[in-house]
Amino acid sequence: MIVVMSSKATEAQIQGVLARLEGKGLQGHRSGGEERTVIGVIGTRFEPQLGEQLEMLPGVTTVTPISKPYKLASREFRPSDTIVRVGDLEIGGGDITVMAGPCSVESLDQMMETAIAVKAAGAKVLRGGAYKPRTSPYSFQGLGEEGLQILAEVRERTGLKIITEVMDPEQVAPVAAHSDILQIGARSMQNFPLLKQLGTVDKPVLLKRGMAATIEEWLMAAEYVMASGNFKVILCERGIRTFETAVRNTLDLSAVPIVKRLSHLPVIVDPSHGTGKWYLVKPMAMAAVAAGADGLLIEVHPSPDTALSDGPQSLNPANFAELMDSLRTIGAAVGRGLPAGCSGAVVPR
Ligand code: PEP
Ligand code: MN
Repeated sequence: MIVVMSSKATEAQIQGVLARLEGKGLQGHRSGGEERTVIGVIGTRFEPQLGEQLEMLPGVTTVTPISKPYKLASREFRPSDTIVRVGDLEIGGGDITVMAGPCSVESLDQMMETAIAVKAAGAKVLRGGAYKPRTSPYSFQGLGEEGLQILAEVRERTGLKIITEVMDPEQVAPVAAHSDILQIGARSMQNFPLLKQLGTVDKPVLLKRGMAATIEEWLMAAEYVMASGNFKVILCERGIRTFETAVRNTLDLSAVPIVKRLSHLPVIVDPSHGTGKWYLVKPMAMAAVAAGADGLLIEVHPSPDTALSDGPQSLNPANFAELMDSLRTIGAAVGRGLPAGCSGAVVPR
């Protein structure tokens, strides 16, 4: 349920509600709107008369049940859009945030070359997996700790923010120390111990949709992270498994406006995993922006034909720069900004 406080409620009255909830073994999550404070009540057991009791407390205007199984992630809990801040970067604030880079961190040279190119084209966040969830145990598994060191070095040299995947609850703290955003991959969307562990760090989490997950299951996974105490969740649509074999996954762009309606969290789209083919990335990225996505996650490699993972879906730097130009055109048409880049520029090594 949500407790809506009066616009004149004092801090002491808000604390009074929180203390009452604690006394009943429930958690109160506070969300300070511009006008009034709203408290989301989370717990496993609600006494039937709880709502009536809370409504009698000083400073409380209304108490209403949240109809959805996810509470903190729902629009009912927070009607206005959440903006996730990563330093000076705002995700979900109206402009399009582009995160780009290779599937896997392979070497310092590869990461530096990619970072310089994607930054020149206007990307603000560099992606690259140090720990890779591969379908085959015989495929390249990532550089691990060495990959994290490379990411930290590239961040230092270029000023780009870093996003990288974490697969294991025990890796959450070390990965958080080296990156700005923690990526939870499609295969880990329902790794509940991992989702709970994300509540222990003060870093944004990019939560990919599982390849066989419904939108409700995806939002429930976001709820796990939020109920553990981390409200900085960004959702990422990356395609789902269907009967279609012409593409690696079927990119569900209808999920973007659906999730925007159901939740206040920012939604970004990954057209690389969403299609599996580099030549489908640009049209689907443009469609994602038109559908209302807050950003994009795109695989870019200096030489996709030699990539250790996901080469066929990776753009080279020239194609990425061209994509960014097209996104600026679409962005302008739908009233969304994109950071300027050196148009069409491919920066030399
Ligand atoms: C990735 O981003 O490289 C990745 C493994 O993505 P997903 O979890 O969407 O398959
Ligand atoms: Mn990949």
